Amino acid sequence: MTRSWGYAAAKAKAPLAPFKFQRRDPGPGDVVIDIQYCGVCHSDIHQTRDEWGGAIFPMVPGHEIVGRVVHVGNAVKNFKPGDLAAVGCMVDSCRVCPSCKHNEEQFCETHTVFTYNCLDNNGAPAFGGYSNNIVVDQAFVLKISPKLPLAAASPLLCAGITTYSPMRHWKVQKGKKFGVVGLGGLGHMALKFGRAFGAHVVQFTTSPGKKEDALRLGADEVVLSTDTADMDRHINTFDFILDTVSADHDLNAYLSLLKRDATMTLVGIPEKPAAIPAGSLIAKRRSLAGSTIGGIAETQEMLDYCAEHGITSEIEIIPIQKINEAYERVLKNDVKYRFVIDMASLPMQ
Ligand code: NAP
Ligand code: ZN
Ligand code: ZN
Repeated sequence: MTRSWGYAAAKAKAPLAPFKFQRRDPGPGDVVIDIQYCGVCHSDIHQTRDEWGGAIFPMVPGHEIVGRVVHVGNAVKNFKPGDLAAVGCMVDSCRVCPSCKHNEEQFCETHTVFTYNCLDNNGAPAFGGYSNNIVVDQAFVLKISPKLPLAAASPLLCAGITTYSPMRHWKVQKGKKFGVVGLGGLGHMALKFGRAFGAHVVQFTTSPGKKEDALRLGADEVVLSTDTADMDRHINTFDFILDTVSADHDLNAYLSLLKRDATMTLVGIPEKPAAIPAGSLIAKRRSLAGSTIGGIAETQEMLDYCAEHGITSEIEIIPIQKINEAYERVLKNDVKYRFVIDMASLPMQ
């Protein structure tokens, strides 16, 4: 077995603490990565608190993983020791269902193996990236350009692809009015992509103090969503809205801003269900949709796009010992705009 160590939650809402565990011995198709940085996603917080139900403990969170390859199995084609490599939210799937065949492994009809809080195809628990290393099948390992600063690139593996994929699917581009709800880890990546894709970008925020940042990061306009008059100026004008909010909020206020036939897509996953009166949708044949991460091929496309266009995340690097404090700060909306753990801080075991 592969000796691993990291930080885990022993049970729901328990603070993360040092944890030793084992990963499988690398097989012929496996890549072993020494993890250098791992981003801190709000999904890590939802799951360590079991806010979505069914959580598996002990839980080593982390799905924004970047590092260096230290070993490859003899059937591995595209990686060699010393290469930079990255792993996102998935580490396996069935590979033969229609969704897998369509390069959308996140929608696998049999079983997507998520990077943690999930059982793998052999029934063993998957452990995530708040750790020293990871063993992953080559088909789920991404290439990362040396042009990208490594720590600031790690959030691309979740916050990046989760916003890039729906923005491509719903064709955010020049001539379109695009709204981003929530300026957090996901929201600030959506802003950057919106600017890069040439759309007219409007940032919605509940935080007056984030206005200057939103403009700097690429917003053409910033709307304080608590200001009804400011919201009303945008009624019936948006081609697409991406909602990244992590907590309960009123979706109807945003649905009324969509044009006829336009779509609002949810990527945020609040603990409680939303209430949507039919009137919010039928008046202008509006659609409310959802999206989750993106397939492996599209994740590689996004990483290559970011390398070409110099797009990375705004980060604050922390040692692993500050992880519980970082979670509290995310919950207090005090992060600009992604914490990234420097895994060099993890003591050797
Ligand atoms: P985050 O950094 O905490 O950002 C969330 C933002 O939502 C905050 O910055 C804040 O923006 C806004 N917000 C927070 N509380 C609010 C409230 N009570 N009312 C209104 N707005 C509020 O979180 P994140 O890492 O970007 O993740 C966002 C959500 O996406 C989480 O639920 C996460 O689990 C989910 N997620 C989903 C996927 C997927 O595949 N679908 C992938 C990754 C993450 P303002 O200060 O600007 O208002
Ligand atoms: Zn995530
Ligand atoms: Zn499948």
